[in-house]
Amino acid sequence: MQKFFERMRAVLFFVVVLVMLALCCIDLMKIQIVDGAEYLEKAKTTRMASQVITSPRGEIIDSSGNEIVSNKTGFNVILEKAFFPSDDDDINRVIWGIARILDRDGVEWIDNLPITMEEPYEYLEAQDSSIVRLRTNIKVQPYATAGDCISAMYDMYGINDEYSEREKRIIAGIRYEMFLRSFSLSNRYTFAEDIPMDTVVKLKEASFSLEGMDIVEEAVRVYSIGDAAPHLIGTVGAISAEEYELRKDDGYALNDVIGKSGIEKAMESELRGTKGTRTLELVNGVVTSDIVTEEASPGHTVKLTFDVDYQRDVQEILENHIKWLNAQTSSQKKGENADAGAIVVLDTKNGALLAAATYPTYDLNDYITDYASVVNGENSPLTNRATHGLYRPGSTFKTVTATAALNEGYITSGSTVTCNKVYTYWDDYKPECTGWHGRINVVTALEKSCNIFFYEMGRLLGPELIARYANMYGLGNDTYRTYWHSVL
Ligand SMILES: [Zn+2]
Repeated sequence: MQKFFERMRAVLFFVVVLVMLALCCIDLMKIQIVDGAEYLEKAKTTRMASQVITSPRGEIIDSSGNEIVSNKTGFNVILEKAFFPSDDDDINRVIWGIARILDRDGVEWIDNLPITMEEPYEYLEAQDSSIVRLRTNIKVQPYATAGDCISAMYDMYGINDEYSEREKRIIAGIRYEMFLRSFSLSNRYTFAEDIPMDTVVKLKEASFSLEGMDIVEEAVRVYSIGDAAPHLIGTVGAISAEEYELRKDDGYALNDVIGKSGIEKAMESELRGTKGTRTLELVNGVVTSDIVTEEASPGHTVKLTFDVDYQRDVQEILENHIKWLNAQTSSQKKGENADAGAIVVLDTKNGALLAAATYPTYDLNDYITDYASVVNGENSPLTNRATHGLYRPGSTFKTVTATAALNEGYITSGSTVTCNKVYTYWDDYKPECTGWHGRINVVTALEKSCNIFFYEMGRLLGPELIARYANMYGLGNDTYRTYWHSVL
């Protein structure tokens, strides 16, 4: 009997276990099969991220349609946050992995850290605002040295001693730039621009260990004609923190390119184009779709009023004239020390610029590839003498004096003055003319550019009247405004 009960207890126990197991199975089935899809959906984290597609800048052409600035397709190295590691060790490994390949090939990458590349670390000259910003961004004291900043960045970015000092400095510079350009899911980071094909191949070969790196084709600015009016054409560059602050409401991003000078800057709103959008879908951190939701549209073409051939001719005339002045051997030797000059040709009918030569000058392509040689060039080739030089107008001013004298009734077209080479009105000041012109009226005086006639007019009119007429001619006023006043 006792044995029977023991057996029954064992059977009962077995049945209870079996029932419980069955219940578990039913529950599991419910979770996995009946409600499986719902639970799976709950476990996934889906994120959408939109990225900006840059628009190709408009072209700049001359009055005859010659392409001065255009675009070509270049290869840029970029980092995509969606595929990029998040751990400092991995981030530094990927960054150095890319930089090492570029470095070996002598290809430059973007580094705007205002600190020298080598020890002893020093701040770069003329970068005061960037230095102040750096100290704030990496949270060091306002009096921190360049060396202090570098050490703080090594700590901040977890850059350890497995890298050499040079490698560490390179990684720090890139990481700081990534921070400045606000690298994020919606903001990919441009590591290097317009890199050569062999480097593209090397990077692609190494890409399995360079997570988040990609090579993309993007429009790169080409200065097809770099020598014609480089000062007027200007250049583009990465947007600065100051420019971004001013223009962020116009849709500029921290990794944008913007016109820095000349036409590139003045016509920025026409040239920049409209950006497009790419939408990424990430499920559990993995990109599952990547769609262009809005195509980018290129900027407008800007047509200039000058012709490249004419501009080059005027530039050559200016250069030849200065060289001729330098080479003079006559007793007069006027202008033998001339080292710079400018010629501007305007269309008298509408004020349009036909040529603006300045000497010495440079080529925009040299400006981009070898800035140091241009900036240190003899007699400051970067100075645009046509717009930034202050020179006496010389005989061209006689038209102003003539207009004032005629209009104010001091003379008529028939009134005469006698030129005997020397102006004798004053006892203590006797300026001269270039020749003996005799008794001449205003028409002949302008034709011969007689100084005596205009010394006399100047004395009669006095400085105030002359200044008033100069002003009416637009001298001392904004050229653009003067032009539109005369047109409207
Ligand atoms: Zn004269």
